[in-house]
Amino acid sequence: MSSLFPNYGRWPISIVKGEGNYLWDDQGKRYLDLVSGIAVTSLGNVPPKVKAKLQEQIDTLWHCSNLFNIPQQEALADKLVSISCGDRAFFCNSGAEANEAAIKLARRYAQRVLNEDRYEVITFTQSFHGRTLATLTATGQDKVKDGFSPLPEGFKTVPYNDGKALRGAITDKTIAIMLEMVQGEGGVNPADPAFVEEIKALCAEHNLLIIVDEVQTGIGRTGKWFAYQHYDVEPDIITMAKGLGSGFPIGAIVGKEKLAQAFGPGTHGTTFGGNPLAATAGLATLETIAEDGYIQKVNEMGEYLRTQLEGLKASHPTIVEVRGKGLLVGMEMDGPVGDVVATLREEGILLLMAGPNVIRILPPFTITKEEIDEAVQALARVLDQTYAARG
Ligand SMILES: *Cc1c(COP(=O)(O)O)cnc(C)c1O
Repeated sequence: MSSLFPNYGRWPISIVKGEGNYLWDDQGKRYLDLVSGIAVTSLGNVPPKVKAKLQEQIDTLWHCSNLFNIPQQEALADKLVSISCGDRAFFCNSGAEANEAAIKLARRYAQRVLNEDRYEVITFTQSFHGRTLATLTATGQDKVKDGFSPLPEGFKTVPYNDGKALRGAITDKTIAIMLEMVQGEGGVNPADPAFVEEIKALCAEHNLLIIVDEVQTGIGRTGKWFAYQHYDVEPDIITMAKGLGSGFPIGAIVGKEKLAQAFGPGTHGTTFGGNPLAATAGLATLETIAEDGYIQKVNEMGEYLRTQLEGLKASHPTIVEVRGKGLLVGMEMDGPVGDVVATLREEGILLLMAGPNVIRILPPFTITKEEIDEAVQALARVLDQTYAARG
C-alpha cells in the first residue's frame, strides 16, 4: 500500500529520466513527451541553458527570504514587465497562489484604494483557476468543489463567451472579471474576440479590473508571451506559473501601477516566493525563450501540428474540431478519448485529456516536425483501431 494520499488518478508509469522531448520510465521505455508536465517543461526536459544557470545558483545561494532585496527577483520582475502590459510583479510558488494573490489584490484595491465595498469576482463555466478554497470557488467546474463547503463568498460563474450573461451578472459589488484567454483544463476553448470586446466595455463602464489567468497559456505557450496579446486588450492583472520555471516551482502576478498601493508592506506575502533559485529558473527560462527564438518556433510548430490534425479530421469523421493557439492544441472527438490516450501511451507517446472528449496536446517548444509526424501517424492508427473495435 502506498503511503501517499490517493488524491491523484495516476498513470501506471514511473518516470525516472528526461532529456529534451523524451522521458524514460523505470523499465527503460522511452516516451515522446507531448504533455510537458502539463505545460511546464516548455524548453524540453532538463534544458541545458536553464540547468547551467541553476547549477551556478545552487553553488551560490538557495534561499534568503523576502526580508532581503533579491537581485534575481528584481531582474525577473523587470523582464516580466518588459514583455507584458503590467508594471509590478509579485512572486509565489504555484498557479493557485498566483490567482489567490490576484483575487486578494483586486479586493484590497477596491476596499483600500477606491474605498468601495466591492469584492465580487466573476468567472466562467469550464474555467480552471486552482485548488485553494478561493480559487476552486472561482473555478467554473463543480467537480473541484464537491465536499469542500462552505465555500468563500464573493464569486459568481457565468457562461463563457456569453457577453449578455456577463452583463446581467455584474452588480454594485463586482470588482473584477477573471478569465483564461484559452481555457486549458476545460477543453481548450479560446475566447471569442467579440466576448473580449464586451468584457473591455463592461470593465470601462463599471470600473472593473480584468484578471487574465495565464497559468497555462503564459510564457510563450500560445505563440505570444501571453495569450491576451492575441487580442486587443490590456488586463489589469496577469497570473502565471506553469511555464515560468521550466519545472522549478514558481508563480507570479504582474499588475498595473495603479494597483501598487493596494499591496503595501505587510499586506501579502509568502516565504519561498521568488527566492534566488526560483527567480534564477524563471530568468533563465525567459532569456532562453527570447534568445533562441522559441516564440517563433511555437507559432511554426503549432501551425504545423494543427494543419496535420486538420488533415486527420478530413479522413476521420469522429474528430469534431481541432482548436487552440500555438502549442496548446485540443482535438475534440465525438466520444470519450480516454482509451485513445491510454493506447498511445502504451505505444510511447504521451498526450493529455481536457475533459472526457478532448485530446490535449502540449508539446515542448523544442518539438520537431518529424516528431509531430510520428505522433500524428500514431494517432491516426490508434483512432482507426479504436473506432474499428467499437464498430
Ligand atoms: C494549472 C492551472 C492552475 C493551477 O495551478 P497550480 O500550480 O496547479 O496551482 C490555475 N489556472 C490555470 C489556467 C491552470 O491551468
